Amino acid sequence: MSDHLIFHKSHPGKIGYSLPSLDVPEVSPSDVVGSEFLRKKELHLPEVTEPEVVRHYTNLSTKNHHVDKDVYPLGSCTMKYNPKVNDAMANLTGFSLVHPNQLVETVQGALAVISGLEEQLKAITGMSRFTLQPSAGSQGELVGVLIMHKYHEMQGNRKKTVLIPDTAHGTNPASVAMAGYEAVQVRSNEKGRVDIEDLKNKLNDDVAGMMLTQPNTLGLFENDILEITRLVHEAGGLMYMDGANLNAILGLVLPMDMGFDIIHINLHKTFSTPHGGGGPGSGPIGVVENLVKFLPVPLIDEKDGQYYLNDDLPNSIGRVHTFFGNFGILVRAHTYILLLGIEGIRTISRQAILNANYLKARVKNAYDLFQDDHCMHEFVLTAVKQKKAGVKALDIGKRLLDYGFHAPTVYFPINVPEAMMVEPTESETVESLDRFADALIKIDDEAKNNPDLLINAPYSTPVRRLDEATANRSLTLRWTPDH
Ligand SMILES: *Cc1c(COP(=O)(O)O)cnc(C)c1O
Repeated sequence: MSDHLIFHKSHPGKIGYSLPSLDVPEVSPSDVVGSEFLRKKELHLPEVTEPEVVRHYTNLSTKNHHVDKDVYPLGSCTMKYNPKVNDAMANLTGFSLVHPNQLVETVQGALAVISGLEEQLKAITGMSRFTLQPSAGSQGELVGVLIMHKYHEMQGNRKKTVLIPDTAHGTNPASVAMAGYEAVQVRSNEKGRVDIEDLKNKLNDDVAGMMLTQPNTLGLFENDILEITRLVHEAGGLMYMDGANLNAILGLVLPMDMGFDIIHINLHKTFSTPHGGGGPGSGPIGVVENLVKFLPVPLIDEKDGQYYLNDDLPNSIGRVHTFFGNFGILVRAHTYILLLGIEGIRTISRQAILNANYLKARVKNAYDLFQDDHCMHEFVLTAVKQKKAGVKALDIGKRLLDYGFHAPTVYFPINVPEAMMVEPTESETVESLDRFADALIKIDDEAKNNPDLLINAPYSTPVRRLDEATANRSLTLRWTPDH
């Protein structure tokens, strides 16, 4: 393992750069900053040639799976291909070198991008305004629930709870708790949708609102959405849409028309900016007209053809991020939407739905489906049948790595035993969907004939099975020469 580090390729005197010779007088660092500020030990840097650096990082980049390598069907995460033109735009120096403390007059172009993206998101959702500050879906959720809280506070309401279906992403109850509410679970019915009777039973004066993922995390459209939003509104609550699954309904349904008051969007999922490995992301929050006054400051507004930062929102929940959020991500999303246009945007969802239904039909004889219904952009398989032979969803996921694919999301949603949540996205061709389906079917054969093979997979990856809990709890990211 240890010779994989670039430090182990280092030899004194190897050089990967060339600089012209010094043509100014040389000064000693201690004369400039004072010796007390100088490091006592020499800085240990690897000494390597340029080709060694290039090869090192090129090889590293292929050790892990990524969407530029092959299919990445991680359900709920929308690991679609990110067009390189988005990166090219974000790397233009007019965007990448702009400083957030520059005078507003000098960053009009950057503000036009942010404002233009806000207009696009409004058109896609029907919402009245957006903040683009939150840096993830989960931070957006917290912002959205704080807006809900402020709304009730201004009305003089004392609310205590927020309703969340049992299929929800774990960040939903976490955000609700952080905002000072208690999460109350609503059951799903046998069709994988919100159980309306259970919802009615749980609605009362304490309910501040409901967080709902549409389509839900089973990949199913909540058909009773109009009744759900009506019931919650009648009880005095607000409707929050977890928009992480927006990829299924772009240009087909407006969240506002379904009765949602607040929505978060994951730009890093739906609008094609790279994600994974912890960021950076962007989770804009959109609201209907009567909640605009609570949005974080500043909003970016226009007057006499000039953009300015509008801090004049006395009822705002305050700032939630430094400056303008993750600006590079906003440039990528704006580029992506501009290039596609409304017809292109609609095609994303149609293709994503078609791909998911095609893949589902190809594998449904080998694996049990949680719900054999038309799915939206993703579907949930269960490995209960394979488990009888001693093979778990986890083993199937690990074996997929040997076939060159990323695993689906496993063990989520939590109401499905041995869940495998598959989201192919619109990026895949019928050929790549077929290759992936063939691998899943072959793995089912292996489960029947040679379960031990799967229990010890993967075989072809740089590392085998990791102790994930320990890896998360005691991170060692620093390498020192004495190590
Ligand atoms: C990804 C996701 C979230 C959280 O978004 P992050 O950007 O990862 O914080 C919330 N809900 C659902 C359904 C998701 O898939």
